[in-house]
Amino acid sequence: MLVQVALPVPLYQVFDYSVLVNTNAVLPTIGSRVQVSFGRQTLIGIVVAHIAQVDSSVPASKLKPITQCLDDTPILDEQMLALASWLARYYHYPLGDVLAVMLPTLIRQGKPLDLLITHWRILPHVTDTDFRANANKQKQQFDMLKLHGERGASEEVLLLEGMQRSFLTTLEEKGLIERYIKLKTAPKAVSLAKMPLTLNDEQQLAVDSILSAHRTGQYSGFLLNGITGSGKTEVYLQAMQAVLEAGQQVLILVPEIGLTPQTRARFASRFAAQIVLLHSGMSDTYRLQGWQDCRTGHAQIIIGTRSAVLYPFANLGLIIVDEAHDGSYKQQDSLRYHAADLALYRGMQAKIPVVLGTATPTLEHLKLATDGKLIECQLRTRAGSAKLASMQLIDARLQSTHQQNQDDGARYDTGLTDQLIGAIKQTLEAGEQVLIFLNRRGYAPVLLCEACGWQADCPRCDAHLTVHYSNQSNHNSYLKCHHCDWQAYIPAVCPDCSSQNIAAKGMGTTRLSENLHAIFANPQTSKQLYPIIQIDRDTTRKKDSWEKIYQQINAGKPAILVGTQMVAKGHHFPNVTLVCLPNADRGFLSADFRSPEHTAQLMIQVAGRAGRGDKVGRVLIQTLQPDNPLLLKLVKEGYLPFAQELLQERKMMGLPPYSHAALIRCEGKTLVATTQALKDAIALLPAGHNLAVLGPIDAPMTKKNSRYHAQLLLLAKNRNQLHQVLNHWWQPVLALPSAKYLKLTLDIDPVGW
Ligand code: ADP
Ligand code: ZN
Ligand code: ZN
Repeated sequence: MLVQVALPVPLYQVFDYSVLVNTNAVLPTIGSRVQVSFGRQTLIGIVVAHIAQVDSSVPASKLKPITQCLDDTPILDEQMLALASWLARYYHYPLGDVLAVMLPTLIRQGKPLDLLITHWRILPHVTDTDFRANANKQKQQFDMLKLHGERGASEEVLLLEGMQRSFLTTLEEKGLIERYIKLKTAPKAVSLAKMPLTLNDEQQLAVDSILSAHRTGQYSGFLLNGITGSGKTEVYLQAMQAVLEAGQQVLILVPEIGLTPQTRARFASRFAAQIVLLHSGMSDTYRLQGWQDCRTGHAQIIIGTRSAVLYPFANLGLIIVDEAHDGSYKQQDSLRYHAADLALYRGMQAKIPVVLGTATPTLEHLKLATDGKLIECQLRTRAGSAKLASMQLIDARLQSTHQQNQDDGARYDTGLTDQLIGAIKQTLEAGEQVLIFLNRRGYAPVLLCEACGWQADCPRCDAHLTVHYSNQSNHNSYLKCHHCDWQAYIPAVCPDCSSQNIAAKGMGTTRLSENLHAIFANPQTSKQLYPIIQIDRDTTRKKDSWEKIYQQINAGKPAILVGTQMVAKGHHFPNVTLVCLPNADRGFLSADFRSPEHTAQLMIQVAGRAGRGDKVGRVLIQTLQPDNPLLLKLVKEGYLPFAQELLQERKMMGLPPYSHAALIRCEGKTLVATTQALKDAIALLPAGHNLAVLGPIDAPMTKKNSRYHAQLLLLAKNRNQLHQVLNHWWQPVLALPSAKYLKLTLDIDPVGW
């Protein structure tokens, strides 16, 4: 017998290896890791099949033996291997590379799974005097272990702290320290830490449907379509309770920046359980530990971002995808999977319910519900006593925006109408909080020469440099590209015409915050009257900054919050009663046909932050296009009628979700080469393929980070048709001669183009 091994190489095949007879080893099990030689390299791969010698396409004389078996038992079970091969087929991605995406780094490096349970401790009789005077280095390492007390620490932790493996063995040989295996004890049964709330009828109905699906042991997908503040979390919690009590695990997926300390607290305050968090900022060790905890069943509640959907679970009973519309669920490089789609797939595999919860379902999910593939549960009212805030338009064409005097007497535009400023003032004076949404961080999006029209552009991208500027300190002033991180000084004079008339145009969160400072300062002392809290990627970069911001907001004192889309992610700020969107509706004018959907989702989510406590909330949308039919539909009728209208449009135009898309991107040093490669790719399409072929065209941002991008879109009426073409076409495309120096990528079900 031979083993077939999936290796982390970009080739669409598995590789046959023999097993040396003289190692008298049994055949390595399917799903275990082996080390093999591959060309001149040594690689670690996963055994995916056993085959008979006669079935191998490699002649016996050319077969190489595996060098080492790394696991006695499989690290990936049948379901995980099935998931991997489904991913490989659906996303047309090499199986070995799929597995590389799925496995934690340390596993891929061949580290033993018990790495984390091997502990070291100092033997009880040993003292400092056991060291000779010249054994300084040893003493130093010994002291590091000593800091961990009598129970010592895991080998992994010690190595991370800078301990050397060789010293550990030396100290062991000298009889000073010993290793021991510390197994994790099985987790206690989950218990309630706090009593559940009494559900309203719609919440109860949702919990009942989810749990009845759970009891039958069948897969069901749910679309929990509940307006903002309708108490979706309480539905999750009560559905989880029954599943946890049955001794099963629950996986909760959250958007990328939704994983704040509050997220954990939401679940930890209800359940006394082993909660594990999985996110992209984890260290390799932590990731391995989390992976093992999920796989062994030690973790009972798993809260994770996108990639958590690829983890192995011992006995999963329920998957929840919170804010299921969120864009961060789509992986945007390498294996371009969608975590919500995968959640449904895994639910089918494990025969368990999957809940997609959101106030703004994607058109794809709405269509699945219409087609009966998702069971829709609606929560139409806010939970408890809170009421959904009303939305109102402010016509910014009728009134000019407020002008403010500068120190030197010049006037500048604040970007806010007097009506908006009046409402903000009123809210603050009533002791309440205001949230202003501006989806652009930095000071201003453009630096412009008013004499000649020169603009500061990124030399590497088709983009303006954002002005980062602060009145407070000069060294915080610079130009930066938000696409490639290029930085430059702010020039004193225009590089083209030497005019000093260069000005920052447009408004980012920093500038808006400064304007608000000026508007709401005490005119005599110019001291600020209300705290202005800026929430964006620049102000939340530090580790505990979110926590501080949260505390400040939840103290409840009057304040103005200025935030980018970060503030749209499910936060609960009970004292915010006014939400302002000064120019959020611009996305309705964008060329990307998905832009209205995404803009509306964002607007509704931000609006949903208003009036979540006892007081009634208001939402003011300042717009230059108050007659825009889409905007009016959204404001007057709400998200669902708006989405239904978009769905009708998509249907008429044959666009997703009424067709299935594959986007091919090509990246290279010149636009000519990338476009030509895509033309060559089109020439390889099989005759009579029946797909709509759009392109090649320049990608939306053609030049990015000094590389040029072109793209090609394939649309098919049904999924099978698309995949059948891709099955025969994509690999030959990758084999095109030009593919050697260009980067060609395939995106199945792209979320934007
Ligand atoms: P969503 O996630 O749907 O926007 P949340 O789950 O954050 O809404 O709930 C909003 C608020 O309503 C929370 O403070 C929550 O405690 C409260 N709540 C939820 N369900 C109930 C209920 N049945 N009775 C009273 N309050 C509830
Ligand atoms: Zn100029
Ligand atoms: Zn750039």
